[in-house]
Amino acid sequence: MKIESRTSGDDKELSIKILRQAVPKMTALDIAVTPVNYAVWYEYCLGTNPLLKLEIDKLLSSGTSFTSSTNDRLFKEFLAEPGDAEKLCSVQSETQSLISGLINKIRQISQGTADFSDVLSSYSDQLQDNPTEATLAELIEGLGSELTQVMQKNKGMAASLSQMDKEVNELRNEMESLQNEVMTDPLTTLFNRRAFDHQMQQVFNGATEGDKSFSMMVVDIDFFKKVNDTYGHQTGDKVIAYVGRLLKKGVRSSDFVARYGGEEFVIILPDTDFNIAMTVAEGVRAVINEKKLSIGAENRQSLGRISVSVGVSSFCTDDSIDDCMARADEALYQAKSSGRNCVKGIEKQPSEVKPKDNRRAEPA
Ligand code: GH3
Ligand code: MG
Ligand code: MG
Repeated sequence: MKIESRTSGDDKELSIKILRQAVPKMTALDIAVTPVNYAVWYEYCLGTNPLLKLEIDKLLSSGTSFTSSTNDRLFKEFLAEPGDAEKLCSVQSETQSLISGLINKIRQISQGTADFSDVLSSYSDQLQDNPTEATLAELIEGLGSELTQVMQKNKGMAASLSQMDKEVNELRNEMESLQNEVMTDPLTTLFNRRAFDHQMQQVFNGATEGDKSFSMMVVDIDFFKKVNDTYGHQTGDKVIAYVGRLLKKGVRSSDFVARYGGEEFVIILPDTDFNIAMTVAEGVRAVINEKKLSIGAENRQSLGRISVSVGVSSFCTDDSIDDCMARADEALYQAKSSGRNCVKGIEKQPSEVKPKDNRRAEPA
């Protein structure tokens, strides 16, 4: 796919131009602004993918409606390449910052224009108001017969700038919801794995640059396959969402809770040392295991108690992101092997300093 991170001035302008064409077109065709759909229509407006353009033009002229499966097909057939999702994410955040920069610029210009209008109006008022010869000389100098014309032109400009400001604000809102969608797990409404990877990098950078520390937890629902097998996938989904809610409730609002995949969650606890993280982990484990769950409004069916196993680790000087995550994973493995429904943590000993490497392993 040709959507790439754009940095040069010309490319920034092009990004905005394409964005302003693509989003209204999608809205007019009743196409949801999802990352995949957006990629298709961005590329269409960009016009550099002739086969995609041909196909969309054909669909448009035949009056075909662009259902999500049509858009998915277009994406897979004409755009998809490995790593596209990540690229899309960086284009979106960059475009968002471009737009907010543009808004500020337009506000400045709009303000200036309105002030200028006021000055011209006051000149005009003074001319109506029996001015002295000296005032007249002052005012007339430089203004002349073009005054009315300039004012009209100026008002028109202010109106078009304010319209542009409105449009850009709408686009910013659309991009914000697009960004949220890209970072959110739809089942639990928690952050997703992509958001976690991004946040982990931020927290890690903060910890390596300053003297801040953080801890992390990996939480995995025990015997979850049995829940699915016994009560069905839909009930399984409800259990995942339920555990997600309890995790979110069980930590501070400044902690970062994400669904890493399947029935596994990760939590980043900024400014939290190992012992406190262990206590917090034990708290959420206990709360999840406290209640017997049941489903169905009438004829309620008991699911029994759900339990989770938790692995805890804390950032240590000279850690890479991988090191810190590997310790949490290893601790989770220990919790599973020692019977599940428990918390294990691995605290790095100061002597175990390894060479620096902060790459994350690619998902399998
Ligand atoms: P353990 O205690 O060792 O973690 O056992 P487990 O059964 O929880 O682990 P296992 O990895 O064997 O099974 C996880 C299951 O989670 C398998 C998979 O079908 C199911 N799963 C993954 N994602 C989802 C989902 O989004 N919804 C539902 N309902 N099930 C899912
Ligand atoms: Mg499990
Ligand atoms: Mg698992």
